[in-house]
Amino acid sequence: MSVRVSPDKCIACTTCVVHCPVARVTPKFLGPRMIGPAYERFRLLGLAEDESLTYCANCKNCDITCPQGVPVSSINMLARAEHCKKHGTSMRDWVLAHGELQAKLLQLIPAALKNFGMLNPVTRKVLDMFGIDKRAPLPAFAPKTFRQMARKVEQPSLPRKVVFFPGCFVDVYDPQTGLDMIWAFNRAGYEVITPEKFGCCGLPMIANGFWQDSRRQAKRNLAEIARWRDQGIPVVTGCPSCALTFRQDLPEFFPDLVEKHGAGVLEDAQDFLLDCVDRGELELEDKAPGDLSLIYHAPCHLRAQGNGLPGLKLLQRLKGVSARNADAGCCGISGSYGFKKEKYDIAQEVGSELFHVVRESGADFATSECGTCRVQIQHGSGKKALHPVSILRARLEGRRPA
Ligand code: SF4
Ligand code: SF4
Repeated sequence: MSVRVSPDKCIACTTCVVHCPVARVTPKFLGPRMIGPAYERFRLLGLAEDESLTYCANCKNCDITCPQGVPVSSINMLARAEHCKKHGTSMRDWVLAHGELQAKLLQLIPAALKNFGMLNPVTRKVLDMFGIDKRAPLPAFAPKTFRQMARKVEQPSLPRKVVFFPGCFVDVYDPQTGLDMIWAFNRAGYEVITPEKFGCCGLPMIANGFWQDSRRQAKRNLAEIARWRDQGIPVVTGCPSCALTFRQDLPEFFPDLVEKHGAGVLEDAQDFLLDCVDRGELELEDKAPGDLSLIYHAPCHLRAQGNGLPGLKLLQRLKGVSARNADAGCCGISGSYGFKKEKYDIAQEVGSELFHVVRESGADFATSECGTCRVQIQHGSGKKALHPVSILRARLEGRRPA
C-alpha cells in the first residue's frame, strides 16, 4: 500500500481533540491529534504503532473541525490498514466488515431462521465471547433483500431516470427504505434503476482494516457508476456514509481507480428530491390526518460533506410536520464500532447526550438518514427511528408512519 496522507499541515491546535467524541469519553484513545498527524511522523520513521489507534471510530468529526484541512480520519484508517497488514485481523472484525457477503452466503435460509439463529440468547452469548457485545443492537435480516423486492416493483415507464445505490444496510436489513425511495422518485417523475452490479461501498472494510477487499469493492462500484454517468443518468443514495466513502475516501485511498473510472459521485437522494420540489416536479401535499412531531439526527458522515441537512429540510416542508434538529453530536455507533465488546460502552457513552435529547423531545418519531444511526438511536432512547423519505411517503399517502 503506497498511499499516504501528509501530516505536515497540522499546527497542533487541538481543535480536533475537543470535537472527537471518543477521546471525550475514554482515556483508552489518545485522541485525533496524537494518533493522527503526531504519530504518523513516528510511523513514517518505522516506529511501533500505538494500540489505541483501533479506538478511532472513523466518525470524521476531526476532519469536519480541523481548521487546517488535515484529513485525520484518513491518516488513521491508512495506519490501521498498515497495522492489519502487518499483524493480521480478527475473525470478529472480518464478520463485521463483510455483512453483505454473509447475507449472500445465507440467502437460501429463511430470514426467520437466520434471525433466530443469530439473535437468540445462546448465540448472543457465543458472539459475546467472540467479541460482539451481547447488548449490541444487531439488526435483523429482512425476509427479502431490497434488490429482490425492487425487481418486483411495477414502476411507470418514465423518460427521466435515476440509478439508486442502496448500500448494504438497506439491501440486507431495511429494504422498506429503498422501496420508499423508489416511490418518492416515481412520484417526482423519475424511473428508478437498481443495478445488480453494485456492492457494499467498502466502508465497513476500510474501518476494519480489510484494505484489499475495500479496493475490490471500489473497482466494481466505480466501473458501474461510470457506466451510468456516461449515459448522463444520475446515481443517488439515501445513505450519507456510502456517499462520503465515494466522495472522500476512495479518491484518497485508491487514486489510481478514480483516475481510471472517473469520480464516483453519489448524489444525496434527499437533496435530489428537495430540488425536485423546488422545480415543481414533486408536490408535497401532506394528506395525513393530525400533526406529527419529529426529532432529527444529522449523521456525522452527512455533516462531513458540508451540504447542509436536506433530509430535515424536506420534512420541514410538510404542512403537518414539525421536525427539529437534535443537534446533539455523534450517536456513537459508527457502523459496526458500537457492536464490538470493547467498544460497546464507549459507543453508548458517546451517544448518551443524543439519546437524552431524543427521549426528552416528546417527538412521535426520531428520524435520520443513516441506517445504523437509526438502530443505535432506537436502542439508546427507546424511540422508533425512520428514514426521512419513509416519513415523507407516509405523509403524502395520508397515513401515519410505521
Ligand atoms: S474519526 Fe472520530 S473517533 Fe477518529 S479521531 Fe476523528 S473524531 Fe476521533
Ligand atoms: S489535525 Fe487539525 S485540528 Fe487537529 S491539531 Fe492538527 S491542525 Fe489542529
